[in-house]
Amino acid sequence: MNSIAICPGSFDPITIGHINIISRTAKMFDKVIVVVMINKKKNSGLFTLEERVNFIRKCTSDIPNVEVDFYDGLLADYAVSKGAVAIVKGLRVLSDYEDEFKQALTNKKLAKNVETIFMVTDTEYMFLSSSVVKEVCSFGGDISDFVPAQIKQDIIDRIRERCV
Ligand code: ADP
Repeated sequence: MNSIAICPGSFDPITIGHINIISRTAKMFDKVIVVVMINKKKNSGLFTLEERVNFIRKCTSDIPNVEVDFYDGLLADYAVSKGAVAIVKGLRVLSDYEDEFKQALTNKKLAKNVETIFMVTDTEYMFLSSSVVKEVCSFGGDISDFVPAQIKQDIIDRIRERCV
């Protein structure tokens, strides 16, 4: 049987911290589906869902067992519909944990055969989030160490458009 894992997130935009989690997950499962979802707790995004999906495709094209998708429903339903055995979430700091723990328990209740697995970030990415990227970029800071080179200019251009 092929093991399928889901890596969900807003990915607005994808960072090298996300790539780290996705590529490590891809070594553990036969297939990884990275799914872009709407996080209702966050403001409307910098990029459309389609743009985020395209960015992730570009940045993961060298990992053969990664697929990219988007979904605007319940993650548990999506995971079941794909036959996934696991949802993999990255943990940076302790403050990530409380919300992730609640989400994991909810998803377990909704989809009892899908396990949530927490993967601890590599230390160099502990500080990194899509919000940090947007904030640094909006003040003209260098984001080269934060995002894949393929999408850096798209991010700079979009932030500039928004700032004028
Ligand atoms: P969400 O809106 O669900 O927080 P994000 O796009 O911010 O979505 O993150 C998606 C997933 O990637 C989450 O599990 C998050 O904890 C994880 N993640 C984000 N940045 C990092 C990082 N620098 N290191 C490890 N995991 C990360």
